[in-house]
Amino acid sequence: MTTSRAATALADATFFPFWLDRADAPAASDPLQGRTRADLLVVGGGFTGLWAAILAKESDPSRDVVLIEADRIAHGASGRPGGIVSTSVMHGLGNAARIFPRDIRALEALGHDNMAGFTDTVWRHDIQADLEWTGEMTVAVSDAGLPAVQEEYELHRAHGHDVALLDGPQTRAQLDSPLFRGALWSRKNSGIVHPARLAWGLRRAALALGVRVHEQTPMTGVDDRGDRLLVRTRDGAVETPRVLFATNAFAAGHRRIRSRVAMVRDRILTTEPLTAEQKAAVGWANRQGVYDTRTQLNYMRLTPDDRILFGGRLGYFMNSPRDPALDRTPEPYLRLADAFFATFPQLEGIRFSHAWSGPIALTTRMAVHFQTYHGGKAVYAGGYSGFGVSASRFGARVGLAKLMGQHLPETGMEFAATEPNWIPPEPFRSIGAKITMAALDGADSKGGWRLPWLRLCSKIGFPLS
Ligand SMILES: Cc1cc2nc3c(=O)[nH]c(=O)nc-3n(C[C@H](O)[C@H](O)[C@H](O)COP(=O)(O)OP(=O)(O)OC[C@H]3O[C@@H](n4cnc5c(N)ncnc54)[C@H](O)[C@@H]3O)c2cc1C
Repeated sequence: MTTSRAATALADATFFPFWLDRADAPAASDPLQGRTRADLLVVGGGFTGLWAAILAKESDPSRDVVLIEADRIAHGASGRPGGIVSTSVMHGLGNAARIFPRDIRALEALGHDNMAGFTDTVWRHDIQADLEWTGEMTVAVSDAGLPAVQEEYELHRAHGHDVALLDGPQTRAQLDSPLFRGALWSRKNSGIVHPARLAWGLRRAALALGVRVHEQTPMTGVDDRGDRLLVRTRDGAVETPRVLFATNAFAAGHRRIRSRVAMVRDRILTTEPLTAEQKAAVGWANRQGVYDTRTQLNYMRLTPDDRILFGGRLGYFMNSPRDPALDRTPEPYLRLADAFFATFPQLEGIRFSHAWSGPIALTTRMAVHFQTYHGGKAVYAGGYSGFGVSASRFGARVGLAKLMGQHLPETGMEFAATEPNWIPPEPFRSIGAKITMAALDGADSKGGWRLPWLRLCSKIGFPLS
């Protein structure tokens, strides 16, 4: 049951990402017309593709790099996220401990290196991405969530993170909500960024390095010509010895990619900018990115102009359409709006300016992996499962190393050398997703069959509860 308060608050919302809704968005580069050759083709103009193009050019400026994007730069996941960044390249320390316990120290070090490289590139190319090192908090919204927060705290401390464990009043002094019972506050090496400005800055950097960028250029097929691939596009083709498929949740490049990657959609709302009184009512002086422990996880942050961004209601659409019509109507967002008002009842009367969804590439590891095709001439890098704003640089770097046959210590590690578990195809995928979404919706309030189902999902590899 949703409330009329939620409907009123959404009445004037624009169903388009707040991040991309800017007058200074760059004009699209020309589509590829006709046939061309390149040393490296990158397919996909989100963060992974942009990072790959930049890293490839920076390591060898003489390399001819082409990047093609089906739509516009950052119109996939990359212009739509919460924009919370952290050092983990494996969807958080807890997830890294779950999937690769033997490699956790190395993965931690790689994550710190990645963040250093990320920051260095932003600085060197003068990318104005509103990057703020605010830290991040994981907040328990009920007493049942406190043990998980305590466990995360101990894990982070054991790995040398600068963390604090906050009780209820200390948490509410950071960000005031009657739901908050305690939190883990990770104070360093994480923060918030404007994702669209970051992507547009990376695009500018890639162009300055000499990358040829073609938007509105969907890849339509790949022909293997022995020593090269011919990648067909809507109005042309690229002949090249090496292709990086940076197509993430769209899983484009080879029909088998989808056997390991499921596209789910996640939703986000932004409020209108807070007034001084509304800001005083929530606090949030340290502006941390925040995740909570609800089963239908919510995340929240402030935007540079002090709106609250509130995200986190998963949805699944059969056959993964690029832009489901239903996601451009209020219905899917009403429940998210209710969760917002349950979190911040003191903001009664506030209205939402934007509502949107974006594609998440879910895998059983909840982290980036690599798939190799055409005898090594093509590599897919993706599957960040909703945690790729900074990890995408790492995915691009390791994906490129694999593609170029470069042997690095990390290319031999389990995360790079193996693939996550198989996920059943349609229609079983839809059926499983439908049951899981219903379980996520009612698990906190109704319990019953939902918790065992979510535990089963965890066993299979999706730790959603
Ligand atoms: C709602 C939401 C919230 C999120 N919040 C966070 C967060 O707070 N923190 C965090 O770290 N991560 C978050 N993420 C995840 C993060 O946004 C992604 O992991 C990251 O953007 C992935 O980048 P990518 O380049 O791999 O994929 P994408 O940005 O999806 O890029 C893939 C590109 O490939 C293109 N493409 C597909 N098919 C073709 C084709 N045939 N030909 C040419 N191009 C093609 C697509 O158009 C797309 O632009 C969130 C994601 C969503 C959806």
